Amino acid sequence: MRTLNLTPLAREVLQKRYLARNYRGETIETPADLFDRVAWTVAEADRLFDAGAAVGETAARFESAMTSLEFLPNSPCLMNAGRPLGQLAACFVLPVEDNLESIFQSLKDAALIHRTGGGTGFSFGRLRPTGDTIFPASGVTGGPVSFIRLFDSATHLIDRNRIRPGANMGVLHVSHPDIETFITAKRDHGLLRNFNLSVSLDDHFIDCVRADRDYPLVHPRTGAIVKHRSGVALLQLMAESAWATGDPGILFIDRINRANPTPEQGLLEATNPCGEQPLLPHESCTLGSINLTRMLNGTTLDTGKLESTAHLAVHFLDNVVEVNRHPTAQTEEWSRMNRKIGLGVMGFADMLILMGIPYQSRQAVELAESIMSCIQRAAEDASAELAARRGNFPAFHRSVFPARGVKRRRNATLTTVAPTGTISILAGVSSSVEPVFAFDGQRRIAGERYTDLHPIYARYRREGRPIDKTIFQTAWDVSPHWHLKIQAAFQKYTDNAVSKTVNLPETITAEKIRDLFMDAAGMDLKGVTVYRDQSHPDQILSACSLK
Ligand code: UDP
Repeated sequence: MRTLNLTPLAREVLQKRYLARNYRGETIETPADLFDRVAWTVAEADRLFDAGAAVGETAARFESAMTSLEFLPNSPCLMNAGRPLGQLAACFVLPVEDNLESIFQSLKDAALIHRTGGGTGFSFGRLRPTGDTIFPASGVTGGPVSFIRLFDSATHLIDRNRIRPGANMGVLHVSHPDIETFITAKRDHGLLRNFNLSVSLDDHFIDCVRADRDYPLVHPRTGAIVKHRSGVALLQLMAESAWATGDPGILFIDRINRANPTPEQGLLEATNPCGEQPLLPHESCTLGSINLTRMLNGTTLDTGKLESTAHLAVHFLDNVVEVNRHPTAQTEEWSRMNRKIGLGVMGFADMLILMGIPYQSRQAVELAESIMSCIQRAAEDASAELAARRGNFPAFHRSVFPARGVKRRRNATLTTVAPTGTISILAGVSSSVEPVFAFDGQRRIAGERYTDLHPIYARYRREGRPIDKTIFQTAWDVSPHWHLKIQAAFQKYTDNAVSKTVNLPETITAEKIRDLFMDAAGMDLKGVTVYRDQSHPDQILSACSLK
């Protein structure tokens, strides 16, 4: 068996949250046992398609990819595979229709999902606006934001006995008459703590902002235009709220739907909590990420290793779809119909440091494109191979693929760049495609503070090597536009979306954030999220720039 090379912080996080425990709360496995448990549980799916499958060999390959920290699946898979809950997906979207049955059904379903460590997203756009009549009782509704508060309180209650805080995404289309209340809903810190909020912008809205025209707000039930608002003023309001709290984020919903692989099944209206995974109502997705620092041969990218790792990861994630034990019958039905998986990356910034490339550079953008196109191509090949043996995803013939000449595809989507908030800590690398937040700083993981010295920085210091400030850039050293350029480079070859926060200096103005939103609208991005330094009392990472 391999020796596990885990950082002390990774061991601590595993011990506190991931290792299996008995009913007395005592830890009953080691980190090596955990990877063994996950590898075997996921590899077992091979037997469903081939009674004589060499499950042991596959399990060994999965285990090796995880213990070498080359690839890790999302947290619920690590926590729950082979355990009583058995729920392995991180991302869900649930429907919210304009009636109490639907609202409370989804509230219940969300509770069942949160209990397993999954996050949920909802579009609240179908709910009638504040003050609208409720039939047959002649009352009036409190509108979408009042229901978001209800979902938030319920999530908070379930948190108490859970493995990680429940996370939600609330989406509202910019044309909803309650949009202004929604945009400002988190202005008081401490409100809606279990929700991220995103406004869905359509192309028409962007056109209205560009031409400084009014934009119509539409009653979701009747379709009637109820009022007009200046597009610029609405975007300014979003920028002011984002300046104050980081919320709302922006989703470019028409662009998201142009990439919808199964438009016949309906529009994509919401994403998972961190925004990287658009899903249809009741769909779920399991994510997994390749650790890019392990894809180097010296200081050059080993594309052969990247391809074979991506290939193995698709096999792993497709198996996860098979063995996942779903919280509801509908999530099972929808998730199996499209079999969406989301393979992404972590450790991009660390890889750049190891290669001596500044994050803010054309070289980094080119490298990002070549990495993600390599992963996407390998994932497509792997999914086609799986389809040859296991069949296309059931809704394949109603998807966009046959018209594009694609013959085989096991999964409606293959790639997603997740935030890798926890699994990057387990791997001991920078998260996702983000620049390093702090080389010498503090992290807060699920409410607890950890001191954290960046491993490569620490090694350079130990070895007395010079710290080149153009290479050791923090998130705040990278200009906002370059954050977007790196995001766009990864998005170019990603089926779903790219989780990315544009970190902004404390002194930035709301007008500059508004300009940044329009900058993002002009690029091929599916969304944008900003965070102004010190704008949140519980800032997750305190940065310490070297400049
Ligand atoms: N997520 C969640 N709660 C959390 C963190 C994450 O529900 O506390 C979900 C959410 O859907 C998010 C996804 O997991 O978008 C992926 O997040 P991340 O990559 O940070 O998860 P990890 O696997 O590293 O824990």
